[in-house]
Amino acid sequence: MHNNFLFDLDQTLLDFHASEYIALGKVLQENGLSYSEDIYKLFKAYNKSLWMELEKGHITRTELFTMRFNYIFEKCEGDSTGLDPLKLNSDFIRTMSENGVLLDGALEFLEKLKAQIKDARIYVITNGVTINARGRIESTGMDKYLDGLFVSEDMGVNKPSVEYFDMVLDKIMEPKESCIVIGDSLSSDMLGAKNAGMASMWFMPEGDVETAMNEYAIDYTAASFDELLQILEKWAKEHTAGI
Ligand SMILES: [Mg+2]
Repeated sequence: MHNNFLFDLDQTLLDFHASEYIALGKVLQENGLSYSEDIYKLFKAYNKSLWMELEKGHITRTELFTMRFNYIFEKCEGDSTGLDPLKLNSDFIRTMSENGVLLDGALEFLEKLKAQIKDARIYVITNGVTINARGRIESTGMDKYLDGLFVSEDMGVNKPSVEYFDMVLDKIMEPKESCIVIGDSLSSDMLGAKNAGMASMWFMPEGDVETAMNEYAIDYTAASFDELLQILEKWAKEHTAGI
């Protein structure tokens, strides 16, 4: 049995928003349109509202992709006549997948985790689009520390469902007692770990931490990569000793 570390990807190891910011800028500027922080904020807010409409079944993915770029064409300076929103959208997704951004210290942390903890296995568990997750991981060089990647798009189920975590256990062929879930999200990572009966680590906790820890039965919290490494080393020793 190994020490299996199941890491969420976005805002745990990689900075999703930083990649999105870079990719949107590149694509708009390549097409002769203006770009600024404000344009990105507008895109982000509108995009979020569209994803909620999609979840309710009010719009399709294609409509979402079209609408978000048509909206942004109106907000940018420059001539958007003749630009195809779906072409820009696919360029945007591809550009984003080529521009992964690590959270500060994430790579060094993974290197130490692998070197300092005996039998450490590092997996990424993420809800999202496979090409985007895999591309961003590879573009940062983080993949050399990973033993596996589990993207919801490939699996057909999402965190926090028990099915998602059961599929991960099946693939890695390890018991749940040997796993700890590390993530920033209460509703997907912490709830998922609780549903699956795995140990959990809330990384970079925010808000009313004590209430959330009770509600989601969270085992540990860490506010930096140094703290995270210390606690995971301790967890590995304790749970190995208990087996
Ligand atoms: Mg996350």
